[in-house]
Amino acid sequence: MTPLSDDHFGGALDGLPEALRAALPSPLTPVADERFAARGLELLLKRDDLLHPALPGNKWRKLVPNLLAARRRGDEALLTFGGAYSNHLRATAAAGRLLGLATVGVVRGDELARRPLNASLARCAAAGMRLHFVSRSEYRERADPAYRAGLCERLGLPPGTLVVPEGGSNDRAVHGCVALGRELRGAADVVAVACGTGGTLAGLAAEGPPVIGVPVLAGGFLGAEVTRLQREAFGGPRGTWRLEERFHCGGYARNTPALEAFARDFEARHGLAVERVYVAKALYAVTTLAAEGAFAAGSRVAVVVTG
Ligand SMILES: *Cc1c(COP(=O)(O)O)cnc(C)c1O
Repeated sequence: MTPLSDDHFGGALDGLPEALRAALPSPLTPVADERFAARGLELLLKRDDLLHPALPGNKWRKLVPNLLAARRRGDEALLTFGGAYSNHLRATAAAGRLLGLATVGVVRGDELARRPLNASLARCAAAGMRLHFVSRSEYRERADPAYRAGLCERLGLPPGTLVVPEGGSNDRAVHGCVALGRELRGAADVVAVACGTGGTLAGLAAEGPPVIGVPVLAGGFLGAEVTRLQREAFGGPRGTWRLEERFHCGGYARNTPALEAFARDFEARHGLAVERVYVAKALYAVTTLAAEGAFAAGSRVAVVVTG
């Protein structure tokens, strides 16, 4: 393991148990891809997927500052929200087990309570996470403080319960992703990242190179959300970022034949498994943008491999 620099969380990682430590900075790997080389561009992969085996990618960067806060406050439990296939719920469950913190996952879809757990939720449960299924309409109240307080009470949770939003994206998580941008500064001219809740983008952009966010959900709501997260974390807008809304391919966990063909071809060219829900869409976006002449010749184009 690389020693942690003071750059990350101002040295606050010192108190982190060995099992939760990560190798920082994550590798930045050049990839020889003729579609980029032909235009005088260099493609670089920022391998955040290698940060931690149980909390891969941006989930480590977003969760650790929340875990440190929970420890500082002496909290006994952590409650958070997610869908049936949420990477964030899995990472939270694993972190709770490693840290000895009770975790509760509020899962969207009360019909799931009557079915056998899918593989992702089974892993959450195996790590000791208590799962609480709610209807889709109740799930929409997840950000309301009064709803959250009532929920903690109904579930009998201790007063020292840290509530973390869906996807883990709060001000602490945004601060945790600032180091990602710092690691890329001077090493890349532009960076692309796939976005769910936008927390990673909000932090990455603050001190990093200009960022292109690639939303994996349809709906065009993310710009306002990133602005809100930056205001919550920094008091106002930070850095240079924009969104490319053309690559959601129908929405969350949706795929198109063109995206699937692109991802398979990328895997064959570079011998690297491409995660389909997020990373494939970011790679597809930058490869399309390169072909469209969106980047100046000589640019180093980084893509964050978030999972
Ligand atoms: C959660 C996740 C994202 C999205 O991060 P946000 O901060 O919610 O935008 C991207 N890629 C992977 C692999 C993820 O698990």
